[in-house]
Amino acid sequence: MTLSRRAREIVDSPTLRLNEEARLLRERGQPVIHLGIGEPKNRTPISAVLSSASQLGKGEVKYTPTDGLPSLKKAIIRYTEENYGRLVDPENVIVSTGAKQALFNLLYTLLNPQDEVIILAPYWVSYPEMVKMVYGIPVVVVPEDGTFHPRLQDVEAAITSYTRAIIVNTPNNPSGMVFHEEFIAAIVEICERRGIYLIMDDIYHKLVFDGRTAPPAYRYTNKDVENTRILVVNGISKLYGMTGFRIGWAVGPRKLVEIMTNVQAQTTSCPSPLLQSAAEGALNGVQNVVESLRLKMQNNRDVVMQEMTSFTGVRLNRPEGTFYALPDFRAYNPDSVALADLLLKRALVVTVPGREFGMEGHLRLSFAGTVKDLTEGIARMKWALDPESPNEIYIGDRKLVRDWL
Ligand code: PMP
Repeated sequence: MTLSRRAREIVDSPTLRLNEEARLLRERGQPVIHLGIGEPKNRTPISAVLSSASQLGKGEVKYTPTDGLPSLKKAIIRYTEENYGRLVDPENVIVSTGAKQALFNLLYTLLNPQDEVIILAPYWVSYPEMVKMVYGIPVVVVPEDGTFHPRLQDVEAAITSYTRAIIVNTPNNPSGMVFHEEFIAAIVEICERRGIYLIMDDIYHKLVFDGRTAPPAYRYTNKDVENTRILVVNGISKLYGMTGFRIGWAVGPRKLVEIMTNVQAQTTSCPSPLLQSAAEGALNGVQNVVESLRLKMQNNRDVVMQEMTSFTGVRLNRPEGTFYALPDFRAYNPDSVALADLLLKRALVVTVPGREFGMEGHLRLSFAGTVKDLTEGIARMKWALDPESPNEIYIGDRKLVRDWL
């Protein structure tokens, strides 16, 4: 079979692949603990359910305008004003099938073949693949000091005449770091001065701990949305735990949104009105759902920190937001894929290898699940990696046998 070279070069999504592996193991009755998945366990906010149900009840589920239902765009405009202090017009907003599609459409709209996009490691797995899908070149900047905070001079050194955009994700998947205010301010200044688009992936922007906030990029420019280089991507997947609803959006200059709308029109026409109504319900409903999720994640972060301190040789930067931790496991094995594989086979714990995020030697642990899963999962990992540990032990009432599978 002859397939396109470009398509064959795109790697599969490791997190979705691991989800599938874990699901199959569970189906076979194996007691898998999933610390891989980036998905809170909450129930859908009731306001989202009611809004979607009422749309369905009308029995009119048709195409919507390509760029989204006007009523949802209104809710997004209010959200943007409340959270970013920016009043934007409906023409500045496009609703897509998840933040993922919003990002893809943005890159498709911005890049010519061979244009470069700067990506800060550790990064979300899809950025480099998306850039490659639109014939661009991902340029990865790696922090050398192990802090997960990119250095400004490294970003500047990576800029060439082909640099079209920089993607910044703060709080960051997979490191859990919130980038410093000075860094965001400086990146905004560089992008505006050099005419580079700054794509802010703000999908976790309210999941920040310890009374801090993630500084929004708009704060550091006086330019209005039509003239700034800042483009903001957001969605309901993480903040409202509505991953399956597949609604995200982008905010940017109207010309860009217009072209993104053409791209979307020729690919998916529009996101489903049932899901758009759910997003509208979430945005217009009581917002304490976001705050209670944030508090739960902060508590889970504390549990992870406590459990990880007794993990000999493992270094962990304390996550400041999101629901991910990225401990350094090089003391056990510098090959993160082999390590994740061993943990799955020996302890039935799913983790995501750091290599997928441009951070070899680390494992990403998601703490979006239950405290019980976190404590048992980390205990199993300790047992599996400790050469002194017995072949069989009980953790809680569960008997663990080395090389379970
Ligand atoms: N950006 C980042 C950093 C993410 O972690 C994710 C989801 N894992 C997305 C974007 C995509 O979100 P959505 O579900 O809205 O497509």
